[in-house]
Amino acid sequence: MTNTQPHSRVSRLTSLGREHGQNAIPVNPPIVRASTFLFDKLADFEAASTHPFNGAFYGRVGTPTTFAFEQAMAELEGGHRSIATASGVAAISSALLAFLGHGDHVLVVDTVYEPVRRFCNRALSRLGVETTYYSPLTGAGIADLVRPETRLIYMESPGSGTFEIQDMAAIVAVAREKGVRTAIDNTWATPLLLRPLEHGIDVSIHAATKYIVGHSDAMLGVVTVNEDCYDAVRRSTQDLGACAGTEECNLGLRGLRTLDVRLQRHGATALELARWLETRPEVKRVLHPALESFPGHALWKRDFSGAAGLFSVELASGNPDAARTFIDALSMFRIGFSWGGFESLVLPMHPQKSRTLGLWKDMGPVVRLQVGLEDAGDLKADLAQALDAIPV
Ligand SMILES: *Cc1c(COP(=O)(O)O)cnc(C)c1O
Repeated sequence: MTNTQPHSRVSRLTSLGREHGQNAIPVNPPIVRASTFLFDKLADFEAASTHPFNGAFYGRVGTPTTFAFEQAMAELEGGHRSIATASGVAAISSALLAFLGHGDHVLVVDTVYEPVRRFCNRALSRLGVETTYYSPLTGAGIADLVRPETRLIYMESPGSGTFEIQDMAAIVAVAREKGVRTAIDNTWATPLLLRPLEHGIDVSIHAATKYIVGHSDAMLGVVTVNEDCYDAVRRSTQDLGACAGTEECNLGLRGLRTLDVRLQRHGATALELARWLETRPEVKRVLHPALESFPGHALWKRDFSGAAGLFSVELASGNPDAARTFIDALSMFRIGFSWGGFESLVLPMHPQKSRTLGLWKDMGPVVRLQVGLEDAGDLKADLAQALDAIPV
C-alpha cells in the first residue's frame, strides 16, 4: 500500500476521515457513542482538557466519530477546521453569535433561509444586535450599507426559494477593505460545487441535513472556518451546547461517500426538467441558476462548478388556487419540508410576503421543486399532468 492520497476531491470522498496505513481495520470508522471518556491518572485528564477539541475528552466537545466528520468536512471545504452542530440552524446561530454582541450591526441577505430571519429579528434583536436586510443583487454597492459597527456580512447563494446568485467577489472585496467578517450558507452547492473559503469568505455553513446526509433521516449542521475565526466559532458552539450527535455524524460521513454521484444525478435530472418546464405555457419563469435565461447565470458560471437539484418555478396563472392545485395534483413530488434527500419534494414559496425588501411583490405563485433520484421521465410525466390540472 502506498500512502499517496488521491488529489481529486471526488476521489477523496471515499477516504476522508478514515484511518489508513493499518491492517484489518474496518472500512468505516467505528461509531463511538459516549458522554464520558475515562482517564487513568488525573494528570492525563488535565492534559486532555487543555486540548478538548483535539481528542476524546467529553461527548459535547466531540467523539472520535464527530471528529472524523469534522475532519472530512474541513478538508473538503479547504478550511482550517469544521465544527459539527445539531442542525443547520444551530450552525448558523452559533456562527452569528460568535461575532455579534450588543451594539453590533449585521448585514443579512433578504433571500435568507426564513428561520435565520426569525433568529435575527427575535434573538439577535433582544441582545441589541441590529440587522439590515440587503438585496441579493447587491454587489460592490454593499459598501453603502456598512457602518462602523457592522461586524458581519451574511450571504446565502443561491437565495432560498428564488435562487438569486450573489456577487461573492464584490462583497468579499468590500468586507476585506472595511474589516468586516463574511459568512455564507453553502447548503445548496455542497463543498463539491462551491468552496467559499477559496473565495475569501471566512465562514462556510451547511445544513448537512440536506445533501450531505442525503437520505432525509438525520438533522446535522457544520460550520467551516478559517484559522482566524476558529476560536470564536468553537466557543460559541460550545456555549450553546448544540453539539452534533455521534450517530448523525456517522450518517454525515456515510453521505459524503456517495455525494458526488448523487449530486450529479440530482443536478442532471433537475436541469432536464427545468429546461422542459421553460417550454410549458403554464410556467412564467423557471428560477434555476444553470439556465441561460436566469439573471444570475453569469455569476453562477463564474463561481460554481455545477448545479444541484433544487429550483423553483413561477406559475403563469393569476388564479389564487393555481399553486395549491398544481401541488395537490403531483404524486411523485411529495409535500414536505427539507430537501437534499433521494426523494422528490414540493413546497409553495412566499417571497412576496416573507421578505423585507419589495423586490418580489409582483411575482406570481412560486413553487419549489426538490428533484430526487427517481427516473427523469416519470418525474416529467408527473409534472405534466399536474400542470394540466392548473385552472386558467
Ligand atoms: C434547511 C436549511 C437550513 C437549516 O438546516 P436544519 O438542519 O433544518 O436546521 C439552513 N439553510 C438552508 C439553506 C436550508 O435549506
